[in-house]
Amino acid sequence: MARKKLIAANWKMNKNIEESVSFIKEFKILVEKNNKDIAIAPPFTALIELKKNLNGTKIKLGAQNMHFEEKGAFTGEVSASILKDAGCEYVILGHSERRIYFDETDEMISKKIKMALKNKLKVILCIGENLEQRENNETKAIIKFQLENCLRNISNNEMKDIVIAYEPVWAIGTGKTATPEQAEEVHLFIRELLKKLYDGNISENIRIIYGGSVNEKNAKELLAMKNIDGALVGGASLDPKSFAEICNA
Ligand code: PEP
Repeated sequence: MARKKLIAANWKMNKNIEESVSFIKEFKILVEKNNKDIAIAPPFTALIELKKNLNGTKIKLGAQNMHFEEKGAFTGEVSASILKDAGCEYVILGHSERRIYFDETDEMISKKIKMALKNKLKVILCIGENLEQRENNETKAIIKFQLENCLRNISNNEMKDIVIAYEPVWAIGTGKTATPEQAEEVHLFIRELLKKLYDGNISENIRIIYGGSVNEKNAKELLAMKNIDGALVGGASLDPKSFAEICNA
């Protein structure tokens, strides 16, 4: 069975409630006939209002981060159950901006994944090498290390709710996209690694999406690759027409 493509928007720290709602009003019409999976991860404050505006569409809601504990004295944090309650179906975990600016480690990410799955959230797990690592030929070693450490303790059954996002750090927000061939090589490597780590057809069915300066011009070529099952889009997801073109590519 072919893997259904997932196109996910990561709005990062952009858009207030009014801007989020006006985006959705325009965007949902542009993707009415689209049959890929589409998800949007706005800032936390816009989740509820977006949820109301997404009712009756196939567009899903996602969050950009969460804490790994169930609840309690963690000022400023949001839990998996709170996100679920707000209508989220997905949560992005391990984004490179979280790793770089907020010192998130693979160990923390692994705990977050467990908690997200326990609360029936689907996880978009981001992994990827930085420029120095790529230039030193360390891409595959880094991917293997991040994948094994973030996914430790994750069962075959739990893997069904995980999407892997390969996001080379050097391509995020820089306008430098990995070529479709460069991305495909890493996606295939990830799939083969998962084949060794998990049973049966987990590796065949898991979606491995690409992120890093995806836009309306390069999306089609990237999405045409055999092992690229969708895209995680930052900058180009802020404009409804651009994001719709990517979804419809
Ligand atoms: C991202 O932040 O996940 C991302 C891919 O950003 P951009 O599309 O802006 O490179």
